[in-house]
Amino acid sequence: MSKIIRVSHIEIEVNKKKIKNMYLKVSRQDGKVSVSAPLRTKDDIIKRFVASKLDWIDKQVKKFENRKSLIDLEYKQDEIHYVWGKPYSLEIKYENKKGVEILDDKLILAIHKDSTIIQREKLLIEWYRKQLKERLPDLVEKWEYIIGVSIESVRVRNMTTRWGTCNTRDKRICFNLQLAKKPLRCLEYVVVHELVHLLEPSHNVVFKNHMDKYLPNWREIKRELNS
Ligand SMILES: [Zn+2]
Repeated sequence: MSKIIRVSHIEIEVNKKKIKNMYLKVSRQDGKVSVSAPLRTKDDIIKRFVASKLDWIDKQVKKFENRKSLIDLEYKQDEIHYVWGKPYSLEIKYENKKGVEILDDKLILAIHKDSTIIQREKLLIEWYRKQLKERLPDLVEKWEYIIGVSIESVRVRNMTTRWGTCNTRDKRICFNLQLAKKPLRCLEYVVVHELVHLLEPSHNVVFKNHMDKYLPNWREIKRELNS
């Protein structure tokens, strides 16, 4: 039997087993955090245990994300990259001045001739971050008003395991900049999801009822987002 608990911005899968000690693990495959605990351990104890290890968990998750970011894309000519759900073919222009722009169906990456994959990736990632930061304020404000909550800060990070996180205590919300590759409705869904966490921290029935009320087609968008 496993269940999910939240500590700060992290979701943890808890597995209770016939063991003597508590173990914490961050998977090297998918970056997921899990705890194995003796059968009769109370959730409070598990939460305190995880809270005392937050720094370590963050470090492991970041390590995983750094490893993952180099897989898949090569940032070469004619490679397909997505912006707000639309495919663009990459055009590499060798220039001394770095920059990214969209021209018709091309995503033009201006970068110096000897640039590495990591440098190209970084340039594009910062550009995606900018796209997200342009769209977020209006969306967040709109949904804060509709849901009747308010948050303290919005951040944008490069993540691979989560689309967004919500620190309900400090009212800080963080969005994955990879959302700029998906259709805009996906970003809106994540905004609603994270803001609803201020009403209900876990993904229980209450949470789902709120989602149904505010965004009736959220399940469909969630499927699209994760496909
Ligand atoms: Zn959530």
